[in-house]
Amino acid sequence: MPMSQGFESRLYPILNEVADHFGTPFHIYDETGVRETGEGLISAFSGVKEFKEFYAVKALPNPAVLSIMQDMGFGFDCSSIAELVLCRKIGAAGDALMFTSNNTSFEEFQAAAAEGGSILNLDDISLIPKVPEMPELICFRYNPGPRRTGNEIIGDPVASKYGVSHDQIIDAYRTAKARGAKRFGLHTMLASNERNCEYMVQTAEMLLELAEEIADALGITFEFINIGGGLGIPYNPDDEQLDLPVMGGKIAEAFAAFEARNGYMPALYLESGRYMTGPHGVLVARAINRKEIYRTYVGVDACMSALMRPGMYGAYHQITVPSKLDSRETETVDLVGSLCENNDKFAIQRALPPISDGDLVLIHDTGAHGHSMGFNYNGKLRPKELLLKTDGTVELIRREETLEDHFATLEFPRDSIEPAAEGKP
Ligand SMILES: *Cc1c(COP(=O)(O)O)cnc(C)c1O
Repeated sequence: MPMSQGFESRLYPILNEVADHFGTPFHIYDETGVRETGEGLISAFSGVKEFKEFYAVKALPNPAVLSIMQDMGFGFDCSSIAELVLCRKIGAAGDALMFTSNNTSFEEFQAAAAEGGSILNLDDISLIPKVPEMPELICFRYNPGPRRTGNEIIGDPVASKYGVSHDQIIDAYRTAKARGAKRFGLHTMLASNERNCEYMVQTAEMLLELAEEIADALGITFEFINIGGGLGIPYNPDDEQLDLPVMGGKIAEAFAAFEARNGYMPALYLESGRYMTGPHGVLVARAINRKEIYRTYVGVDACMSALMRPGMYGAYHQITVPSKLDSRETETVDLVGSLCENNDKFAIQRALPPISDGDLVLIHDTGAHGHSMGFNYNGKLRPKELLLKTDGTVELIRREETLEDHFATLEFPRDSIEPAAEGKP
């Protein structure tokens, strides 16, 4: 969705002042919106005995935003050492952390177990003997393969590198149990940006059925079922919203049916990234150039380093020009950054109000997989991040990158060898 009306009404009146003070470009996030969405999740899943969101850190790994999640009682889904370190820095530990890696290294296993540990979510049966010390609580990520069709972004589960196959899943729990695991969870992540609530309901039902099958075979019970992330948001104003209350209601029904059959109800875990923060961020850039050749190009002072999604996935992001909201005139332009890549375009052949140099341009829905996905190709630096807090203050929560940051890895002690070339390949 285009940023919420609430966010608009909070941001537009202060936008010029914020841009003048901090300088463009920047991502700005709306604490009020994030909290409203968090409350929405909690109330949608009030029908299950225990619900917990583990915010997918990769979507927006900024400690100021993660602290808001923590304040709402949420945990964190981490997939790298850096993400674990970041969460521990804000005081999250143990059961508040879920470690969902794939192709996991020894160092990652060590980091997952360090400093109070985390809930280990294993991606493959071959990893069981590689876990340095089997924790008491273990979870596996399940890949249903041909039993399920994937959604558009993640694709066909058969071609997906993630998770334990159907034929191996019971053995996986049996082996982990034999190595000392005593408490169990079950996880999957099959969709990305999915706005059809039935898809997530089916995922929950699939996991509950599988949990019964595994439990019957091994005489274990499941503490939690984690249905993953992937809840979608309407990037395009024409897209429909995900019906969260309906989804929550149906999933609660499935959990109640499980309880009726098995005499207990596992907790429901979710690891939403995009849904939690996506609509509550915008990228603010300033128009700096205008070029008329075969098409009209409006150049802004941000580029793909701040937002990869349009270039990488051809993703649509709503664009507005706050100073021209009343303009009835439009022109069709490509809105571009400065990278030497022709896919560095925030919009292609989009009807926008006529934009002049100096105008502020808002690229919506950058609160998830925005700044965090940015890269430094072409030596382009990532912009700063700001937080619009509930009390109305605007705070710098990450400075922009500098050339010094960029060149930091070129400073190191001299090191070289003269290989004797005696070894065999
Ligand atoms: C990326 C990711 C998520 C979050 O995905 P969203 O689409 O942002 O909800 C959750 N879990 C895992 C394992 C992921 O890799």
